[in-house]
Amino acid sequence: MNEIQAKDKQYVAGTYARFPVTIDHGHGSEVFDTDGNRYIDMGSGIGVTALGIADEGWVAAVTAQLSAVQHMSNLYYTAPCADLAERLCTRTGMDKVFFSNSGAEANECAVKIARKYAAESGRHTILTLENSFHGRTLTTLAATGQEHFHTLFQPLTPGFVHTPANDIAALRAAVEEYAPAAVLFECVQGEGGVLPLEEDFVAELARLAAARDMLLMVDEVQTGNGRTGALYAYMHYGITPDVVTTAKGLGGGLPIGATLMSRKVSAVLGAGDHGSTYGGNPVAAAGACHVLDRLDDTLLAAVREKAAHAVARLTGARGIKAVTGKGLMLGIETEKPAAEVVRACMERGMLCLTAKTKVRLLPALTIPQELLDEALDVLLGVCAG
Ligand SMILES: *Cc1c(COP(=O)(O)O)cnc(C)c1O
Repeated sequence: MNEIQAKDKQYVAGTYARFPVTIDHGHGSEVFDTDGNRYIDMGSGIGVTALGIADEGWVAAVTAQLSAVQHMSNLYYTAPCADLAERLCTRTGMDKVFFSNSGAEANECAVKIARKYAAESGRHTILTLENSFHGRTLTTLAATGQEHFHTLFQPLTPGFVHTPANDIAALRAAVEEYAPAAVLFECVQGEGGVLPLEEDFVAELARLAAARDMLLMVDEVQTGNGRTGALYAYMHYGITPDVVTTAKGLGGGLPIGATLMSRKVSAVLGAGDHGSTYGGNPVAAAGACHVLDRLDDTLLAAVREKAAHAVARLTGARGIKAVTGKGLMLGIETEKPAAEVVRACMERGMLCLTAKTKVRLLPALTIPQELLDEALDVLLGVCAG
């Protein structure tokens, strides 16, 4: 253990089981630790550094804003906040955006919209899926359909019920029983094991939402901002959500959360109903504007091509049982335990993640083909060995 790791262990709360690696700097999809070891970054800070580490264009956008004004309260206007909201609405067809600082906060805002929207009709229940992940606050934990996150933190925010993913009969029964005000779901369950929802199930969710005046709310915190090869994953399914939440990759490395609202709900929250001191921070927003500008059709097509290449190389390889996911959000079921594979990859200079029992890859969307292949070589070698 080096000095930094010892200090961290002494003073930082022990909520993370960290690897014994201290990252010093990086560029693109390569990072270097304090001992000078090089790693290919196949986790991108859990899908955050969408353009890689210290991308020149992103750094320029952020630093230009940093030396103009780094923060103002939401009592005043700043250009990056308005520019980012305009970009998000123009590219999704949504009507308005609320900015916050994380995925959990983006989901908290969605919950507040649903509660206020439905209050008039006497409803409040929000339906989410089993095995989902929506955040770590007490409300987003309640939304998260995984019991093991709940047990130690009772009582959680009431008013959430869960139904199994891809089970249409159970979904219909839950809607019948609870008359939910809203449904919140990930198109690809990320933390739950990189599991895409089936098209029929999503179509039924959308149909029921329209028929029952139930808000269709999509959690795009992990799947959003080009990750799956579409700007937002719901676009693969041809649905029109009422609310879209996103964070992670949007900021390219700075904290930002966004809750996008369709015309149907964009006036639900009025002055004083919600707020955030840092929300819409001009530096984070300037970085996010740059991220969105880079996520054009060419880049999204490259994401889909690289993903197809990775899937082709991994599928059927020795020691690999299955590959799931969409775009550059891949879950790999390995014969060896996933944690063991991740550790062995790290020792061979490649950083990746787990999701439940799977190895998870979330590289930068801009990862060069050679580095992607080098990382896949490491993973294939570890799985086959
Ligand atoms: C990471 C994640 C969250 C929580 O985001 P934070 O920024 O950690 O609060 C919520 N939903 C999904 C789908 C996520 O992947």
